[in-house]
Amino acid sequence: SLIYLNGEIQPAESARISPFDRAFLFGEGIYEVCIIINGQFVDMDSHLARLDRSLGACGMTPPPERAQLPQIMHDLAHANGITNGFAYLQVTPGATPRSFTAVPQGRPTVMILAQAQDFLSAPSLSRGITVQLQPDIRWLHRDIKTTMLLPQVMAKRSALANGVDDTLFFDELGITEGSSSNVFIVEASGTLITRPLSHHLLAGCTRARIITLAQDAGMKVEERIITRDELLRAPEVFVTSATYMIVPVTSIDGHAVGDGQTGEVTKRLQDAYLDFMRSLSAP
Ligand code: PLP
Repeated sequence: SLIYLNGEIQPAESARISPFDRAFLFGEGIYEVCIIINGQFVDMDSHLARLDRSLGACGMTPPPERAQLPQIMHDLAHANGITNGFAYLQVTPGATPRSFTAVPQGRPTVMILAQAQDFLSAPSLSRGITVQLQPDIRWLHRDIKTTMLLPQVMAKRSALANGVDDTLFFDELGITEGSSSNVFIVEASGTLITRPLSHHLLAGCTRARIITLAQDAGMKVEERIITRDELLRAPEVFVTSATYMIVPVTSIDGHAVGDGQTGEVTKRLQDAYLDFMRSLSAP
């Protein structure tokens, strides 16, 4: 496959990143994942806006090709013949001597890869996912989309080992987010609840899109803490992310959510999200 690295689309097999890259030595990296549906990137602007924000939050300078990123991502998808899949974009400060505070002299590392995947046929869309709950052991800047993903990898591995699909995290206040998604519940009244944005969770681009679509459809959305009790009693629970899109949660720690099927409100929002994505491909 072809990747983009530091100014050039090139074969992944021969691409080279320095062992002194600060992402490798210190985990200093920022990333984004943006899906491609029928040749269109979904919410690319909000993903790139969050990239800028994450870079700023950890004092990294925007890469020289920042303004060209949308074009580069399109070119890379095209070069790989991908009309359904995703682009993964990572930016790091680049290489420095192995010193915590060394200031990079060279260019930041910018790597983009594109991978084919048929998101619209994912079984989880109709079947939903089962989850377990775990304490959120991550750091307190979860609003920065960093490549320091060891806690998330551990949470997903633990889910698989325990026979469920994914893990949702909680802190002393309530549910923070999923291991790679945001969490919503639907109250019996039909009101959607999701945790307010703060440094405790990532500001999901899909979360924002779903809130807009829900409000456009006349639904009520409240941003407030969801306690663990509330989550377990909710008639409907769903998660959102670029790659999940919007997926029902059918069981939590072995307790069925509602009747264990996709809820009515979740289904309506799934339809609204699919319509939104179709509207992107319209001429
Ligand atoms: N929260 C976490 C921890 C994530 O890793 C992700 C996406 O990977 C999200 C939320 C959802 O964000 P988005 O909808 O922008 O993909």
